[in-house]
Amino acid sequence: MKIAVIGAGAMGCLFGGRLAQAGHEVVLVDVFQPQIDALNEHGLLLTDDNGSSRIKIEAAVAAELAGVRELLIFFTKAMHSAAAARDAKHLFGPESWALTVQNGIGNDDAIAAHISRERLIVGMTNYSADLVSVGQVATHGFGEIRIWGADQPSSRVSDIATCLNAAGLVCRADPNVQNAIWEKVTFNAAMNAVAAITRLPVGGLADDPDARDLLKRIVEEASVVACAAGHAIDPAHVWTVIEAAFAAHRQHTPSMLQDILAGRLTEIDAINGAIVLQGRKLGVSTPYNDALTSLVRAIQRSAQGTTGVMG
Ligand code: NAD
Repeated sequence: MKIAVIGAGAMGCLFGGRLAQAGHEVVLVDVFQPQIDALNEHGLLLTDDNGSSRIKIEAAVAAELAGVRELLIFFTKAMHSAAAARDAKHLFGPESWALTVQNGIGNDDAIAAHISRERLIVGMTNYSADLVSVGQVATHGFGEIRIWGADQPSSRVSDIATCLNAAGLVCRADPNVQNAIWEKVTFNAAMNAVAAITRLPVGGLADDPDARDLLKRIVEEASVVACAAGHAIDPAHVWTVIEAAFAAHRQHTPSMLQDILAGRLTEIDAINGAIVLQGRKLGVSTPYNDALTSLVRAIQRSAQGTTGVMG
């Protein structure tokens, strides 16, 4: 299959690399020229629990590419989805499909503003990956992907699940994918935002009684919003997943904290901010997520040196 992965960071390289290893014609699309140059010159160095492999793969900015691809997989951070879809829309033809398993709420709308929503597949993944350096990505442990049509069932969902499974990426079609998306958003709303504010890694959050208590309240509040929106989230289950992360990933720095430390924008608006917006629409009050959103936005501006400049 001819595939373009839009966003050649940690996850884009993991998915693109695995699909290229499985024999697909993959191009990694990005806006960061040093990453594109490293991938073209040296290939992708992908490290997993079994060791490292160097994968030959093409990378480019969208404007340099011509010809449609059968599948576009979006893996930018959520705040870049709209620009990425706009820049890559010439790669999307009448027979093309697009897939997003990014974190956050609203990636589907951002992408569908530029390409046909009827040919958009959405989902969730709990695979994890880190960008070690330009052209180098590491992944550890196991994961899964759950996908379904953005608006309606489609036979292409199971074709794409089969394609991902054949590339070693465990994937299943799941009609309840919105529950999975909201469950992950609930997890991230707690873990990412509190880490970004406290600057504590996962183990630090696990050890601090106030942080644990706050995480629990955020999970409960986000679950009420999700349930009001029709997505049956069990806060006790999300808490079990958080406890598992406390045990298995003590050293991990959640991505929102990584972004703050690097002076980059975060996915706060697509995670806690989206919970607040949905709560407002449904008449559910969200004081914890509201406060976290304001705090992370303020920290983000301060880290970027734009306090008083950005809206
Ligand atoms: P990343 O920051 O490593 O990579 C994103 C890439 O997108 C960067 O290389 C960036 O230059 C590129 N980009 C930005 N704007 C672009 C544009 N307009 N066009 C093309 N490329 C553009 O991010 P990541 O960690 O790979 O995460 C991607 C998504 O997957 C996020 O929504 C994240 O929350 C989610 N996710 C990440 C993990 C993980 O372990 N890293 C796990 C599950 C889900």
